[in-house]
Amino acid sequence: MDILENIEDIKKNIKLSAGKVNRNPDEILLLAVTKTVNIDRIKEAVSFGLKDIGENKVQELCDKYPYLKDLTNFHFIGHLQTNKVKYIIDKVKMIYSLDSMRLAEEIDKRAKQKNLIMDCLVEVNVAGEKSKYGVLPDDTIDFIKMLERFKNIRIKGLMTVAPNIPAEDVRPYFKKMKELFDNLKNVCQSNVDAKYLSMGMTNDYKVAIEEGANIIRIGTGIFGKRLYKMEGN
Ligand SMILES: *Cc1c(COP(=O)(O)O)cnc(C)c1O
Repeated sequence: MDILENIEDIKKNIKLSAGKVNRNPDEILLLAVTKTVNIDRIKEAVSFGLKDIGENKVQELCDKYPYLKDLTNFHFIGHLQTNKVKYIIDKVKMIYSLDSMRLAEEIDKRAKQKNLIMDCLVEVNVAGEKSKYGVLPDDTIDFIKMLERFKNIRIKGLMTVAPNIPAEDVRPYFKKMKELFDNLKNVCQSNVDAKYLSMGMTNDYKVAIEEGANIIRIGTGIFGKRLYKMEGN
């Protein structure tokens, strides 16, 4: 499995997909999703220019942090329990999974304690799937308006994990996200700076780019199949 080849392949596809819809490929961030990937392989990807990495578990992020903090920007892309916010608040560049008032309260409180402003994306459950986290599309703008009082949170945009179906079938959901994102840009609120629309993973990033994504999150496409350790090992 050649990481460099994979990265070059993805970059070529980013250019192609952006070109199709007259977008500048340089405005699209390729976030390397490094869950289950070991430090050496992450360092390899970093050496090929991928400085921004996404982790989805607090424990794993904290374990890797000392080895990579000087080389990378950590992004937190997984579901975040309120009682774990304190462990990552000063380690990550952005939290991608803001989806409840309780979580917002906690992020705001911990950010204040550390004297920082935390960049967050609001996670949208775009297809209303039972198995997924996130705010429903119809509730998203109202939810964000309710966050105005949190001065140590900056809402930088929206994130979604699309349904796991063939890429072409996901397109309507990506369109829905783009529509919401454009609505958010029209919301005038002191702690909103709608800059990022994060959608698209290994299977569907090309379609996501055609529909307006500017942060794509790719794991297997870069590092190959994930090897999960067996319970108890
Ligand atoms: C694992 C993960 C990804 C990457 O998925 P791949 O299919 O391996 O590219 C993206 N986003 C989130 C939130 C993830 O948990």
